[in-house]
Amino acid sequence: MLNWFNNLFHLLFPETCVACKRQLQHHEDLLCLYCQHDLPYTNFHTHPTDNPIAKHFWGRVPLQNTAAYLHFSKGGRVQHLIHLLKYKNRPDVGEVIGKQYGEQLAKLPDWQTIDWVIPVPLHPAKELKRGYNQSDTLAKGLADGLGTAWSRDILVRRTYTESQTRKGRFARWINVETVFDLIDPEKIRGKHLLLVDDVITTGATIEACAQKLLAIEGVKVSVVSIACVVK
Ligand SMILES: [Zn+2]
Repeated sequence: MLNWFNNLFHLLFPETCVACKRQLQHHEDLLCLYCQHDLPYTNFHTHPTDNPIAKHFWGRVPLQNTAAYLHFSKGGRVQHLIHLLKYKNRPDVGEVIGKQYGEQLAKLPDWQTIDWVIPVPLHPAKELKRGYNQSDTLAKGLADGLGTAWSRDILVRRTYTESQTRKGRFARWINVETVFDLIDPEKIRGKHLLLVDDVITTGATIEACAQKLLAIEGVKVSVVSIACVVK
């Protein structure tokens, strides 16, 4: 009976692949088989200290391992996937994709020393509007795949006060360094942290977050994003 109902439900409301929008078959979950095999995977995690993301941060902030799961291209399948995650109330996309990548990272010794997965905090006003922080969903999935812990309460984003937003552009640029705050720094002393963002573009946010975390003694920071525009 339940099966019959499920079949009817799928007939009336067919689920589509989160990347290519093709109709999913019953055995497929979120991604169609074609996309599972053929998304623009970077494989950066297999050479985590020498890849385009790593080079992007050279001379800016000392990172341990870096990787991005997918190449981002305008109008492409990865953009569609990110769009669902960020603007279409699909936190499940982040958890599933994050877990897939986490399981791949877990196979490599470089990534097996991660203690905590830390999402890049979203501005509270944005999170309120969206209902969730997309980086939280990725962090949860990654931690799940890696078999480690994640926390959104270690690194937090301060809310802007009115006086701050009235300051000039230069003052606001300076503020990027002071936007993030650490709660309970003792918790991360000497730990290997995996900082997670959805897309890496300029890397300014990652840089500011990593600097904050690296201020604690013995901390090592690795970085993972789901998509990157860095070639
Ligand atoms: Zn597909």
